[in-house]
Amino acid sequence: MEKMRPCKACGETVAKRAETCPKCGRQRPGGGVSSAVVITTALIGFAIVVYAFFRVATF
Ligand SMILES: [Zn+2]
Repeated sequence: MEKMRPCKACGETVAKRAETCPKCGRQRPGGGVSSAVVITTALIGFAIVVYAFFRVATF
């Protein structure tokens, strides 16, 4: 069964994997996880690791 999500632009219920909203035409209306979120999360995780490393490494 296809998972449904509200369109981010207009609120129309669309399939999560839909490429475009049938109502307003927005690209990837169901979103999922955008690459920007993934990159931001990765950067924050990396920063935490670097911070922890320097806290341990600094005498
Ligand atoms: Zn829409």
